[in-house]
Amino acid sequence: MEKLLRIDGARLWQSLMDMARIGATEKGGVRRLALTEEDARGRDLFSQWCRDAGMTVSVDEIGNLFARREGTQIEAAPVLIGSHLDTQPEGGRFDGVYGVLAALELVRTLNDANIATEKPIEIVSWTNEEGARFTPAMLGSAVFTGVTSLDDALAKQDAQGITLADALAQSGYRGTRAVRGQAVDSYFEAHIEQGPVLEANGTTIGVVTGGQAIRWLDVTVTGVAAHAGTTPMPYRKDAYFAAAQMAIELEHIAGRYAPRGLVTIGQIGIANASRNTIAGKVALTVDLRHHDDSEVDAMEHDLRAAFANVAMTRGVEVSVDMYWRSPATPFDAACVALVARAVDALGYSNERIVSGAGHDAIHLARHCPTAMVFIPCVDGLSHNEAEDALPEDVTRGANVLLNAVLARAGVAATVDAH
Ligand SMILES: [Zn+2]
Repeated sequence: MEKLLRIDGARLWQSLMDMARIGATEKGGVRRLALTEEDARGRDLFSQWCRDAGMTVSVDEIGNLFARREGTQIEAAPVLIGSHLDTQPEGGRFDGVYGVLAALELVRTLNDANIATEKPIEIVSWTNEEGARFTPAMLGSAVFTGVTSLDDALAKQDAQGITLADALAQSGYRGTRAVRGQAVDSYFEAHIEQGPVLEANGTTIGVVTGGQAIRWLDVTVTGVAAHAGTTPMPYRKDAYFAAAQMAIELEHIAGRYAPRGLVTIGQIGIANASRNTIAGKVALTVDLRHHDDSEVDAMEHDLRAAFANVAMTRGVEVSVDMYWRSPATPFDAACVALVARAVDALGYSNERIVSGAGHDAIHLARHCPTAMVFIPCVDGLSHNEAEDALPEDVTRGANVLLNAVLARAGVAATVDAH
């Protein structure tokens, strides 16, 4: 039987804990916002580890950080593996950093085993994945894949009005490597699930088949502002209560598309809000998600019908505008199969899963063959200082990544160390 290569779980765990000290919070989390001093220190440490592992480090024009291990086929496009080192303001120790350091552990393991791959391997840490300092999220991979132009990205400003270009310069991570036009063989990303499904099912590995369809709508409900004390209830055109009824209708719609249909009202505001004034105008955001584009179409259709009906019965106006949409993104069947084969060979429990969150891999999937590996996180918690993962799951996920990438990159020569 084929002998499977395995990573050093203790070494990977130690690297994760060492990285978690940079920007560590009192509650055990991490605050390493994109291109801040903490992020730069995290990048410095990672770069040093990569050089120590014999890799060549480079930075592109949007600050994406690459570490390359040559293959025997010098001309071949690299297998790209990575995720991100930036965190939420009150983030955890695993979101993003796990995928980057699992990739580093993969290279260390190949070094220890004296294994050369045919294709080069490049680890990447994408700039501003979280979207916490600069919006939108996943900006570095968006520019890399041509979703966003470099100039647009560089002009983005944080809450203090600092541009991304200035933040890059300040952090020392505005590189010269061209961000566009880099040939890539494929992309693999390991990540914590950031949800409760794997843990609830008692599954070790999520073989990710793609990303779900996402639709962001801007809804405005317009009634008539009036005096709270002098306007009898039947005379009111209250935009807030109309919006509240629409919200309840929306939750019913989600129920009809359960369990895959997801609806969220994340922001809601009353224009010129005043304690003693009936709401004249309410703006709210709606986030619709489903695995299938046709189902999210149907959810939007139902939403429009339900909201129009509420508006009509209450004598208010409603407008529903598309702000942004992202179609369902299936991952590459061949790369997903490599992940599945690695999991089976390693004998871990597993299930197919669709990514609920956005990831750099979603951008990459429209650019090159892509796959992801999910591991469970404790209580499904993420974007939280209490975010946690079990050491054995961390190790297993990296073993899957290692064997899937190795199959894709091709083993050139093995010298038995014994
Ligand atoms: Zn992440």
